[in-house]
Amino acid sequence: MNENVVEVENLVKKFGSFIANDNLSFEVKRGEIFGFLGANGAGKTTTIRILVGLSPLTSGKVSVAGFDVTKQAEQVKKRIGYMCQKFSLYEDLTAEENIRLYGGIYGLSKREILQRSDSLLNRLKFEQYRKRLIGDLPPGMRQKLAFSVALLHNPEIVFLDEPTGGVDPFTRRQFWEMIYETASKGVTLFVTTHYMDEAEYCDRISIMDEGKIVALDTPSELKKRYKTKTVEDLFVKIARG
Ligand code: ATP
Repeated sequence: MNENVVEVENLVKKFGSFIANDNLSFEVKRGEIFGFLGANGAGKTTTIRILVGLSPLTSGKVSVAGFDVTKQAEQVKKRIGYMCQKFSLYEDLTAEENIRLYGGIYGLSKREILQRSDSLLNRLKFEQYRKRLIGDLPPGMRQKLAFSVALLHNPEIVFLDEPTGGVDPFTRRQFWEMIYETASKGVTLFVTTHYMDEAEYCDRISIMDEGKIVALDTPSELKKRYKTKTVEDLFVKIARG
């Protein structure tokens, strides 16, 4: 099995003459928690949209789960989970209905959906919320459910674009426990966040500035290299020139 779940070579994405991703090259290893950091507008979501097959690249070569995102997008989609920045479940459906809907989209059988739905709600201790509309649940609960739904079809890699935005510290901690547990099963996590304490939890982090990756390594190695005590200090030091 390929060690790298993501391979990006000389990725360029332009919007007209504006270069949103400027010649990116990096790999993400299987089972890794990879933090994809950068200031607002640095180009992170643009890259994620390319990696999940939602947006075409201008030039370069990108493979995810061993498949080329340009030529084999359908193969890629079967093997990935994606939780986008804006809330990714339907607010006017219940927790259970959302699980059924996504299970169907992911091509699971009725039986698989039923089994996974029960074990998912049980694991999250959400059984009593099964029939509640998603719109009536607090943001932290919705995010945990959205993450679990993104894992419903056992993807090799999950892309989480600012999964904990607007979530309280306690729930953020619980969310990260779910991320660790998922990684321990061999699933790769590709996470963007503006919370630098979360960046410290990643195996490796990449820092993007104006469309370019300006640093990529383990948090401890980067802190040593840039002589900073925290990832937050590191980020402030290098994320804007
Ligand atoms: P944030 O942390 O705020 O989510 P980001 O790092 O994810 O930011 P992107 O959303 O990737 O940043 O945006 C990178 C740049 O590309 C921004 O300047 C944005 O305005 C621009 N951009 C993104 N999508 C488009 C588009 N469809 N057309 C034109 N410009 C775009």
